[in-house]
Amino acid sequence: MSIEGRHIVVTGGGSGVGAATAQALAAAGARVTVMGRREGPLREQGLAYQICDVTDADAVAQAFAAARDAQGPILGVIANAGAAESQPFAKMPAGMLADMLSVNLIGVANVWQAALPDMKAAGWGRMIAVASTAGLKGYAYVSAYVAAKHGVVGLTRALALELAGAGITVNAICPGFIDTPMLDRSVANIVEKTGMSEADARAALVKDNPQKRFIQTDEVAEAALYLLSDAARSVNGHTLTLSGGEI
Ligand code: NAP
Repeated sequence: MSIEGRHIVVTGGGSGVGAATAQALAAAGARVTVMGRREGPLREQGLAYQICDVTDADAVAQAFAAARDAQGPILGVIANAGAAESQPFAKMPAGMLADMLSVNLIGVANVWQAALPDMKAAGWGRMIAVASTAGLKGYAYVSAYVAAKHGVVGLTRALALELAGAGITVNAICPGFIDTPMLDRSVANIVEKTGMSEADARAALVKDNPQKRFIQTDEVAEAALYLLSDAARSVNGHTLTLSGGEI
């Protein structure tokens, strides 16, 4: 069974990984709905879109209902929306941990829960999170983000078992640093806080990758295409790392 004609939702689909994945899915013949908070980047994708904040379960439910009305039952979700804030733990402002958990972990749970009835009714579904290598190992100065991404991996593993009998697979893609607007913001943050040059900041981020390069968005898109495919029907509760051997 291919994904041709299947309706797939991509959150954070207006930029970076989400945009590349949404375009790859559309090129493969899927019916795609992209979601995010800003209309401009969503509209630029030239695909169906719904505006929603993934941290708001009611807004997510409304967006999924509207997407379903427009393009039919939702049989795949790429829970990709996320954000990364950096701060030494001792200086972490009140609210940062809650914010990171809210968008990176609860946001994933909200969109997966919204898609569950359609998948159960079809007896077929694919839930995919774009987690991170930060879901599998620690990194200094991003403790809240790392905690949230570890939570996504836990959610993935538990839900995979819970839904295994329903024809639904649940998996996480765990990339290292990817060349996206999020990476550009991380580099700018390092430059601002340390006075490092941009080239040195980029070198500091790439050093953990044994291949010494940033992951490209099309690599994540291809991994998502595989996990969505019927060929991946036995891949369940898996963390697919894209990190050049870092993990
Ligand atoms: P990005 O370009 O900043 O994309 C993040 C997307 O998420 C944006 O389109 C943003 O759109 C959306 N988003 C953020 N908060 C949201 C919210 N509350 N509700 C709905 N949408 C929201 O960065 P990216 O690198 O492609 O990130 C995609 C995913 O990859 C994230 O989960 C990130 O943690 C993960 N990741 C990134 C890297 C990296 O180095 N870049 C490495 C590993 C994993 P709006 O602002 O319009 O809502």
